[in-house]
Amino acid sequence: MGKIRQLGASLANKIAAGEVVERPASVVKELVENAVDAAATVIEIELEEAGLTSIRIRDNGNGIEEEDVMLAFSRHATSKIENEHDLFRIRTLGFRGEALPSIASVSKVELTTSTGDAGTYLYLNGGDVVKQEPAAARKGTDIKISDLFFNTPARLKYMKTINTELGNVTDIVNRLALSHPEISFRLKHNGKMLLQTNGKGDARQVLASIYGMSITKKMLPFKKSSLDFEVEGYAALPEVTRASRNYVSILMNGRFIRNYAITRAIQAGYHTLLPIGRYPIILVSITMDPILVDVNVHPSKQEVRFSKEQELTSLITEALKELFKQQVLIPSGEVAK
Ligand code: ADP
Ligand code: MG
Repeated sequence: MGKIRQLGASLANKIAAGEVVERPASVVKELVENAVDAAATVIEIELEEAGLTSIRIRDNGNGIEEEDVMLAFSRHATSKIENEHDLFRIRTLGFRGEALPSIASVSKVELTTSTGDAGTYLYLNGGDVVKQEPAAARKGTDIKISDLFFNTPARLKYMKTINTELGNVTDIVNRLALSHPEISFRLKHNGKMLLQTNGKGDARQVLASIYGMSITKKMLPFKKSSLDFEVEGYAALPEVTRASRNYVSILMNGRFIRNYAITRAIQAGYHTLLPIGRYPIILVSITMDPILVDVNVHPSKQEVRFSKEQELTSLITEALKELFKQQVLIPSGEVAK
């Protein structure tokens, strides 16, 4: 008799959760991305104990239809792509259909969602549906994740202090807010407001909410295009540097990414203006045809591969060099416009 067997859905989801749901910040990232993809204009995030006790995310987006609610929690179920052609032209933040089933398999989920018509309420415990019933028809989605990792004690033990976990969450929310200045974000922790953006589409206002006015005043706008790419953003003057890469925010078609080559290109743009081991405070937003990038590299979708990386990195370096060259010619004092 053969020894190989097909794993059940619940076990498969838990295995996937190991990659997609590393800590509270990853849950926040996936759920906020879903709200963004649902065209929400207001997204509220409320955490208790850095999200270890609970994470609640409310949006005013498109909602999920009653007949789709259960499907949303099964693996590889997505409304965002249909075929292989779509996989190379991804314009949404999600597409893997893995987040909801993975999160649900390691927590308790309460979901209320409505497309504007009849709403649905769903309660799942460790991925098992405990209750489904009709709910109010307020358009949007309200999802609450409690007791994260209650059934995976090894993962729970691996959690850091509340402060470290909260730092990871704020980092993610800051980047999501920077990627979407047209969405109003609110982040609350244990009842205290940590971030609020107005959703009026002004990246500078988001930068000010995150870094404060005095730093934002020292950030200069830049913009440059090549054949395939357009880069724009705000770069802090070389006098404000940080010891960590965390202040380098790179966006690609509205998705924040981490990319070593681009970080290097930014440092090269500052050239000798940047002391060794220091990083600038900078927001770089790249707009391009999605065909030129592969976002399907890692389940967290933060790593991407560019097919014309050299063209892109030179463009970024050049844009910054030009910016700082102009800067030298302008007398200081007129900088902070
Ligand atoms: P993916 O985002 O990769 O499609 P998810 O597991 O994150 O996979 O979500 C599954 C599906 O559930 C989505 O494709 C979407 O149709 C629906 N969904 C999830 N969250 C929301 C939300 N906040 N608003 C509307 N629809 C949602
Ligand atoms: Mg998703």
